[in-house]
Amino acid sequence: MSRRLEILREMGLTPVWRLRKEPVVTEENGWIEIKQAVPACTACGLHKTRTQTVLGVGDEQADWLFIGEAPGAEEDRLGEPFVGQAGKLLDNMLAAIGLSRNDNVYICNVLKCRPPGNRNPEPEEVAKCSPHLMKQISLIQPKLIIAMGRFAAQTLLNSDASIASLRGRLHRYAGLPLIVTYHPAYLLRNLPDKAKAWEDLVFARKTMQSL
Ligand code: SF4
Repeated sequence: MSRRLEILREMGLTPVWRLRKEPVVTEENGWIEIKQAVPACTACGLHKTRTQTVLGVGDEQADWLFIGEAPGAEEDRLGEPFVGQAGKLLDNMLAAIGLSRNDNVYICNVLKCRPPGNRNPEPEEVAKCSPHLMKQISLIQPKLIIAMGRFAAQTLLNSDASIASLRGRLHRYAGLPLIVTYHPAYLLRNLPDKAKAWEDLVFARKTMQSL
């Protein structure tokens, strides 16, 4: 818990309010629909091997939307994205810029079901799952999207460019500002690139302040 939140709690001033996007009835209905539709989805073959779907986690009206690739084994088991070592690193990355996964942040993946053996998603799977992600984005209406990893970046930007060439500048997805950075699982294997991820987060924080 942040010191500020602790102080406010001691003063009896929690919950901490912030200016929210006005929730509308259609938005509530939209969340109800997607929370029913995704667990029941059989649009691609991944439904046969999943334990459960992994829709996303966090604040459904968040300004920050972090998007990764697909659930891994732990995520498939627990039904939450970014658990395990990559999740811990993501939490640390969020904390480094004053964020946490349940406060003004929403985290999800392009695919809602785990590809067996954590293989790369197939184009057809992405095509079938994209409507779920698009709906999520339209419901959240984030101010800024962070695409984590080559797969999320290339999918959202409809590009085959490398992460190295996509990071460090502002892109747009469906009119929303989008920044590209490395996937936490990649950073666990490539520690020197953590410094670049930090640069991306600083860039993201500055961008958010200017929005
Ligand atoms: Fe449906 Fe997406 Fe799961 Fe495929 S990956 S079954 S499209 S929810």
